[in-house]
Amino acid sequence: MEEEEKRKKRVLPINQYEGPILDAIANNTVVVIIGDTGSGKTTQLAQILYRAGYTSNGIVAVTQPRRVAAVSVARRVAYEMGVQLGDEVGYSIRFEDRTSSKTCIKYLTDGCLLRECLFDYKFQQYSVIILDEAHERSLNTDILLGLLKRVAAERKPELKVIVTSATLDGQKFSEYFFNCPVVTVPGKLYPVQLLYSVDRPVNYLDSSVQTALDIHVREPPGDILLFMTGQEEILKAISMLEERVKALEEGSCLDVEILPLYASLPPESQARVFLAPPSNCRRIIVATNLAETSLTVDGVVYVIDPGHVKQRQYDPATGIDSLTVVPISRVQAMQRAGRAGRTRAGKCYRLYPLSTYEHELLATTVPEIQRSSLTGAVLHLKSLDLPNLDILQFDFIDQPSMESLEDALRQLFVIDAIHSDGTITTLGKHMAELPLEPALARALLAAQELGCLSQALTVAGMLSCESIFFQAPRRGQGKKREREEGLLPSGGGYGDHIQYLQIYEAWQHHNFDVEWCKSHGLQGRSMRFAKDVRHQLAVIIMKKNPGGFEESATNKSKEKVSSARSLRKALCQGFANRLAQRMPRHNGYHIVSHRSQLVQIHPSASTLKVDEEGLYPEWVLYHELVASPRPYLRHVCVVEASWVAPALSKLQNVNISSLSGQGARRASSNMDAVQAGGVVINIEKILSSGGN
Ligand code: ADP
Ligand code: MG
Repeated sequence: MEEEEKRKKRVLPINQYEGPILDAIANNTVVVIIGDTGSGKTTQLAQILYRAGYTSNGIVAVTQPRRVAAVSVARRVAYEMGVQLGDEVGYSIRFEDRTSSKTCIKYLTDGCLLRECLFDYKFQQYSVIILDEAHERSLNTDILLGLLKRVAAERKPELKVIVTSATLDGQKFSEYFFNCPVVTVPGKLYPVQLLYSVDRPVNYLDSSVQTALDIHVREPPGDILLFMTGQEEILKAISMLEERVKALEEGSCLDVEILPLYASLPPESQARVFLAPPSNCRRIIVATNLAETSLTVDGVVYVIDPGHVKQRQYDPATGIDSLTVVPISRVQAMQRAGRAGRTRAGKCYRLYPLSTYEHELLATTVPEIQRSSLTGAVLHLKSLDLPNLDILQFDFIDQPSMESLEDALRQLFVIDAIHSDGTITTLGKHMAELPLEPALARALLAAQELGCLSQALTVAGMLSCESIFFQAPRRGQGKKREREEGLLPSGGGYGDHIQYLQIYEAWQHHNFDVEWCKSHGLQGRSMRFAKDVRHQLAVIIMKKNPGGFEESATNKSKEKVSSARSLRKALCQGFANRLAQRMPRHNGYHIVSHRSQLVQIHPSASTLKVDEEGLYPEWVLYHELVASPRPYLRHVCVVEASWVAPALSKLQNVNISSLSGQGARRASSNMDAVQAGGVVINIEKILSSGGN
């Protein structure tokens, strides 16, 4: 406990700059604060503002790009302030709100704040908004930057905006905000010795584990932080470490505690890395890049950096969304190394040669806005009804590519979210209000009309969680086995969505029993999450349309769950952009919106029905198009040709130049003329090669 008290009272670098920080905020609308990771930006700034009285006329919001960080940090700050979490200090993340009328410091994901502005685009309840971890350049943070640039000027001097960054890129933010002041908080970083590998290791997992072990055997006490790219890899590394540690001679070195740290880890396990370590024991923390800047684990002296990160990459040309392992940037490499020098001089083992660092790594990470699908973001901006909003002209800190903006506009048009002149439709507004990606939101609204809302909510819930199956279905093994043994319903040959629905209903039939999940190879935690999401979505929809729900409940009894025809039809409306047609003579599929793209159904998919010739149904919709390593459709659902026709005709009639919103105005500026110049996508041509 004494130890804890000491931790609580410890003065962080940022506390020594309270004066200059408060002065800058008092005299400016926007302030950028740069400070090394661990200097206290996330946990202390809000408390400094609280003590200075900024919460007397509004809430202090602190955004986080990651859900886990929002929760973990809110918990920490509530503890430091000696209050109950949810009272003065709370958090709000998608599908979970832990705030109350007392809350005056609110940690929330940037996505959550973005959603709030749908209902209050001036952010009236806030006195200060801290865009934290801005260096991560998440898509949502970038959009918030643009929106707050407008609002801060309007609400001056009541609203203060603070942008914090862990890297020297603060200048860029400052320039964006009309050269606002930058307060730099020098960190107390001890020297970190950088050690490079001679070659790139053939197997970096093995090499990482071996390096950790070598450090453990040879180096003086101090915790080890090892960066891995994802949960699966972390668990593998941990089991390898455990095995090899066991093989060490008893008493030859310190005890070891090996801990994982990744986003979907249960909160109790996450909290373990923040507990004071047992004495005479070395901790090896195996983490994703969550530990790069979002969360600071104290006591780390050795960092092992294999140089990789898992990154999302959306390609508007093919529609493929990939989550691939890519080399980190130099900024990331520096951040990782910095983690070793927080308590004393440390060492960072880079498992790549110096020449790789110097010549192969990108200087900075490509911001998410330049590598994501922008459909949700564009719908959001359109639904805000901002005056003079031309999406192609929005003041982004870094412009997304024209191609991906157009891709988003096209997608929105096809799912009826925007009119052909680019204005938002009533449906589009409703879609934006649901905390779901536009396609799924559209499917829910269609389901409401078709009387199968209850089922659609279930599917939305099931699609919102991490895998519901126990082992990540590696090439379908885990999942297929459960099904083959007849433990789980199969989807009746109609695909994964229907299978999810059936699984959920079977669980419901067993009174949502967690034991039932276990004995059926399902993740209880994911299933409960799905149930929770389902409930929250139902509440949101019922608020808007109290009658909607009963109607679907009565309808449900009439329709057999086994084919769930209405549900599939509703999904088809939502996923009108994500349709695939089977090749005439084999089970490969063509993506309708990107005709040249030939894909396969993911091996983990539930078994689809086949005709006499062994061919799959002609039309399916898909939830995701992934490249792992070949292009695969993940989560498919069988649809009928007659439902597909309206989508095809819309795809044929897309006129991109009118969709961006301010067609007439655009021709006025030079850049506009270039952009508007003949960007009429001829989908007809793309489609003409298809058999329709
Ligand atoms: P920054 O945002 O500048 O990177 P933080 O405010 O996140 O810095 O961290 C400051 C200190 O607070 C660090 O020493 C970190 O270990 C500690 N800390 C942050 N979150 C927690 C937590 N959940 N539990 C215990 N300590 C924490
Ligand atoms: Mg931080």
